[in-house]
Amino acid sequence: MLENSNELAAWDRDHFFHPSTHMGMHARGETPNRIMAGGEGVTIWDTTGKKSIDAFAGLYCVNVGYGRQKITDAIAEQARNLAYYHAYVGHGTEASIRLAKMIIDRAPKGMSRVYFGLSGSDANETNIKLIWYYNNVRGKPEKKKIISRWRGYHGSGVMTGSLTGLAGFHNAFDLPRAPILHTEAPCYYRRADRSMSQEQFSQHCADELEKLILAQGPETIAAFIGEPVLGTGGIVPPPAGYWQKIQAVLTKYDILLIADEVVTGFGRLGTMFGSDHYGMKPDLITIAKGLTSAYAPLSGVVVGDKVWQVLVEGSDKLGPIGHGWTYSAHPICVAAGVANLELIDEMDLVQNAGATGAYFNRQLTEALGGHKHVGEVRGEGMLAAVEFVRDRDDRVFFDASEKIGPQVAAALAERGVIGRAMPQGDILGFAPPLCLTKEEADTIVAKTADAVKSVFSKA
Ligand code: PLP
Repeated sequence: MLENSNELAAWDRDHFFHPSTHMGMHARGETPNRIMAGGEGVTIWDTTGKKSIDAFAGLYCVNVGYGRQKITDAIAEQARNLAYYHAYVGHGTEASIRLAKMIIDRAPKGMSRVYFGLSGSDANETNIKLIWYYNNVRGKPEKKKIISRWRGYHGSGVMTGSLTGLAGFHNAFDLPRAPILHTEAPCYYRRADRSMSQEQFSQHCADELEKLILAQGPETIAAFIGEPVLGTGGIVPPPAGYWQKIQAVLTKYDILLIADEVVTGFGRLGTMFGSDHYGMKPDLITIAKGLTSAYAPLSGVVVGDKVWQVLVEGSDKLGPIGHGWTYSAHPICVAAGVANLELIDEMDLVQNAGATGAYFNRQLTEALGGHKHVGEVRGEGMLAAVEFVRDRDDRVFFDASEKIGPQVAAALAERGVIGRAMPQGDILGFAPPLCLTKEEADTIVAKTADAVKSVFSKA
C-alpha cells in the first residue's frame, strides 16, 4: 500500500505540524516518527509492521479497543444515509436524539440535557460560556471567575488552556487569561508534610480553596472544575474524602461544580462516570474521548437540571442561545457514539475496567512497588501510574533534564508496549483499552518491569 515510506516520512517532517511535538527536533529528524497503519483489540501496528500493545488507548480514548466492526459499520451506514446535517434550530438525526437519551440514562442523577461538540476543549469552552450566561440571567454579573487546579488538564484553547494547570500549556502563549484561577492539586504523595493523613490533606485542599474564594470574594466565583482523577497532571486519584470536602465548600458559596469526565466518563474507573465513583454531584459534566472511543470526534456538555432551568429562562428573555458549532451533533460522530455505548454494554466493559483494572494495578504494585527508584504506584480502575524518584525514603525527585520518565517510556516502547511519559514529573502512565485481559495486563507489567530494570541498570 505504501510504496515509499521513506518519502512519506520526509513529507511528514516537511509538512505536518504535529500537536504536542518538539517542532525543531521533529523537523530536523532528531526524534523518531511513527506512521500508524492498523489496530485490533489492544494492539496497534505501524507501516513497518511493528506491533505494540497500546497501554494508553491512544490518548486514553480508544476504550472499546481498535477495529470494532460494529462502530465502523454504524459510521459507514450513517455516511451513506446522511453524512451531514446541522443541529441548529431544532434539527437532529435519529442518532443524535438517541445518543443524548443514552447519555442522560447513564449519567449521575439530576442531569437534563446534552450539548454536543467535537473535542474536550470545545466542550469546556461551552461550559465557560454557559456558566457566564447562567450568572447573567440570575442577575449576578460579577460571578464569573472559574477555579481550576494546578496539574488539571482541561484542553488547550485560549480559555481551556487557561483552565489547564500545566506550565507547558501556558508558556509563551500568554496564558492563563483572566478570570481563571488555580488552587492546590490533590497530590498527596508529592506534598511536603508527610505527617498529614489523606483526610487531613483533603481538608487542607478544601481550606486552600476556601481561602482563595474568600480572598477573591465569593460573589465573584462562578465555578470550580476538576477531573475526578487528575489525568495528564500525573494520573493521581484524589486523597480520601477529597471530593466531599471540596463539594461542601462549593455549596457554601453557591459555586457550580464542573466534573471534567473526558477521561473518566463511560467506564474507565469501573463505574459509568467518575462522579458516581467518588459521590460527586456535578452541575455540569464534560464528556469526550470514551463517548465514541475516538472512532469519530465527539464531545458533550451534560447540563444538570439546576443550570438547565436558568438557561431556559435566559432564552425566554433573550431569544435562541447564541452558541453553536457547524459540527455540533455531527451525524457520523453521534452514530459512532450510539454504537460505541451499545458495545460498552454488550462487552461488559465497565465491569471489566473495574475488575481487570484492579488486577493490573495490583500486579504493577507487586512488580514495582518495592523498587528503590519507584516512589509510588497508584491508580484507579483502568488507570495506573508509576512515579520514579531518585531517593524513595527522602522523596527526592530526579532532575527533569535526566528525562527518566521518557527513558522508561522509550525502553517500554522498544519492548512493544506503549505507555505515556506524563509531563509533570517522572511518571509512566497507563490507560489501556477497557477490554484489556488479565493476560495482556501481565504482559504490560512484565515488559514494564524489564524496561525499568534496563533504564536503572544504565544509571
Ligand atoms: N479534559 C480532559 C480531562 C482531558 O484529558 C482532555 C484531553 O486529554 C481534554 C479535556 C481536552 O480534550 P481534547 O484534547 O479533545 O480537546
